[in-house]
Amino acid sequence: MRRIAWLLVIAILSVWTPGLSQSVEYTKRSKNEVREGPGSYFQLLKVLPKGVPVPILKRDGGWINFKPGNSAGGTSAWLSKNCLVESKPTDLLRNLKLEWQSSKASPSAVAAAIRGFAMRYGKVPSAVVDTVLGMQEGLFTPEEFAQFELTTKGDRPTAQQKSSSGIADLMKEPESSTSLDGLGTGIAARLASQGLVTNRQLVKYVNLLAAKLAIMTPYFDTPIKVYVLKGEEPRAYAIPGGYIFLGEGLIRLCSDEAELAAIIAHEIAHLAGGHAVKEEFQRRFRVRMDEVFAELEEELDQKPDSSETDLEEMIQEAYDDVVKPRLQVYEEQADKAAVMMLSSLGYDAQAVPGIVEKTGRVIKNRVKDWTENPFMHLDFEKRDAALLKLLQANPGYAGGARNGGRFRRMTE
Ligand SMILES: [Zn+2]
Repeated sequence: MRRIAWLLVIAILSVWTPGLSQSVEYTKRSKNEVREGPGSYFQLLKVLPKGVPVPILKRDGGWINFKPGNSAGGTSAWLSKNCLVESKPTDLLRNLKLEWQSSKASPSAVAAAIRGFAMRYGKVPSAVVDTVLGMQEGLFTPEEFAQFELTTKGDRPTAQQKSSSGIADLMKEPESSTSLDGLGTGIAARLASQGLVTNRQLVKYVNLLAAKLAIMTPYFDTPIKVYVLKGEEPRAYAIPGGYIFLGEGLIRLCSDEAELAAIIAHEIAHLAGGHAVKEEFQRRFRVRMDEVFAELEEELDQKPDSSETDLEEMIQEAYDDVVKPRLQVYEEQADKAAVMMLSSLGYDAQAVPGIVEKTGRVIKNRVKDWTENPFMHLDFEKRDAALLKLLQANPGYAGGARNGGRFRRMTE
């Protein structure tokens, strides 16, 4: 009798509880990354194309757990909600089991295509591309991510925890495609050829900070890849495909972790705001780039010929966009997002105007112009004034943690 009652409860729950009943959604991006766990830092299992039905087992925050099919047994597979749409595609409906088994879905095949694109059009030695890709491998485990606390509970003033909802308003629904990754990797390799700081402790630290900060944004499912460029010049770049480059000189200007977090949050806001790659650029080159990737994924061993100069021009144009100053309105938008991200995480948001003011002073007092520095000719004073106004209007944003001790340990 008791058993029957339980079965009845389970039957009712499975029919009536939305979380337990199995619903199907469909992949909508051109690149849908399936991971081993609910976070961008979990191992990549497969890359699925658009139009694959996904039977949902459960939801955890922004992540969806599903079973990839009978053949894969009990594999735990997770997709971000950004990848899925409820309505069935009217054009091409694929088969999950077939796509899962396809060699194109393997992370190594996708990585090879991205590497191939960056090599062909990045115009840099292959060793540099491999350094860029290799530096992110095994940087930290999901356990290390969980243990890396940004601020302790005591640091966090309760008044401003609510601000996270406003962050998404400053950002777009993220794009994700293999061609954007290839373009970004090519640009990243070009910048990296200027010289990278390889100090593992520092590289791990800036990447952990970025991963924690990105959780606050619609970019929570994108691995943010942070690199440090050698040299005293203060500068930072946001590159399509989730790349951020920080000048060593900019990190040296920071007094504490809150200021470093302010810089990284600002660059994430550029990525998530769609400032890293212009829509007009995407319209012009998207189809052509997707064609190239289709070839690379088919492993067609083609040598670049004269008809590909358009792609070389394209990557040059994207590179120029990255190294030139952005619009002032984008800068102020990214500053505002950084303030909200910092205060939501318990940092002192006063760190944002703090580092903006210091950077502006160094740029103003420079003895010569720096080339390919996006900070040149930006109005830092106007940014600072806008930030001070924002903080005055929201006094709760200031007063959180600064984490000076950890910053000094990790950046020494
Ligand atoms: Zn900026």
